[in-house]
Amino acid sequence: MTVLVLDTSAFIMGFNPTKSGEAYSVRAVEEELSAGTMPQLRFRMFSEKGELKVQAPSLRAEGMVEEASRKAGESGYLSKADREVLALALDLKLDGHEPVIVSDDYAIQNLAEHLQIGHSSLANFGIVHRFDWIMYCPACYRRYRPPEKKCRVCGTDLRRKVLSKKKATRS
Ligand SMILES: [Zn+2]
Repeated sequence: MTVLVLDTSAFIMGFNPTKSGEAYSVRAVEEELSAGTMPQLRFRMFSEKGELKVQAPSLRAEGMVEEASRKAGESGYLSKADREVLALALDLKLDGHEPVIVSDDYAIQNLAEHLQIGHSSLANFGIVHRFDWIMYCPACYRRYRPPEKKCRVCGTDLRRKVLSKKKATRS
C-alpha cells in the first residue's frame, strides 16, 4: 500500500494530507518549521486529527541513511529532519509499504533515488512553486522564505537552497 512521507518543504508549500490516504512525518519536521507559523500549525492540526502519523525512525534505518548520504556526497545538505524523513520512509518500505516521499528538496530526492525509495514533487499534487528556492540556516537548519536574510533564532547568515524542478519518479 502506498503511504506518503512528508518532509519540511511539503508543509512549507502547503501540502494537505487529508485527501491523500495515509501520511507520515517525523517530530523533527515539526521542530524545523518555524514556531507559530502556518506550516507548523497545520502540522499540529493534521497530527491531532489523526490525518498525519508522527513516527520516529529506527536507529538501523538512520544508520543506512547516514551511510547512503556519505556515499552520495549529500551529508552537508541534509538536516536532522531530512535524515529522519528518509529513515522513516526506509522503515515503512522494510515493513512492506510503498512509501512515497513528498518533497521539493533536491538533496532528499537525490538520496531517495540512492535508497530506491519513491518520491514525488509537490507539483504532482497540483502545488505550484511559489519560490524556486528557500533560505536556510547553516547552523540550526531552520528554513525561511525569501527575502529573510538572518536566522531569527541564532542570528546566522542564511544560505540559499535551490528547490529542484526536475521531474521526480512516482511509484
Ligand atoms: Zn539558525
